[in-house]
Amino acid sequence: MAGKITLTMIKPDAVAAGHSGKIIDMIIGAGFKIQAMKLTRLSNEKAKEFYAVHSERPFFGDLVKFMTEGPIIAAVLEKENAVEDFRKLIGATNPANAAEGTIRKNFAADIERNAVHGSDSDENAALEASFHFAGVERF
Ligand code: GDP
Repeated sequence: MAGKITLTMIKPDAVAAGHSGKIIDMIIGAGFKIQAMKLTRLSNEKAKEFYAVHSERPFFGDLVKFMTEGPIIAAVLEKENAVEDFRKLIGATNPANAAEGTIRKNFAADIERNAVHGSDSDENAALEASFHFAGVERF
């Protein structure tokens, strides 16, 4: 069922600021069904693994530090065209460039502390969903 799921994380900045409820409300209001959801915290090793594609980037160390500083909410979301529609809902990586009404425009501080993650392809959505959830945790 390619195209039907995406993986999100409400990042430590947004969880700590108490924005999780409003963000989840926006996600459901945009037509996404929650297949799986949990409050969890990434270890150093797991954060490095999740963001391995960025391991050579100058911001990698800061990104891992940020993503491990506190709990996150991970979720698998289902919708037709899930990856693309969710990227539209969250807005540009840098909130300064994010469209009005997007989650990052509303809740992100800067290019690093940008409130939410959204998978960038169907292939990565499947990998990232398996990274966070066992099959029996998905409904
Ligand atoms: P995304 O797909 O929109 O999340 O963006 P990327 O995959 O390019 O980057 C992954 C995450 O790394 C982003 O969501 C940010 O938290 C962080 N990040 C991206 N670019 C930068 C940057 O230039 N500086 C810093 N400090 N963090 C960045």
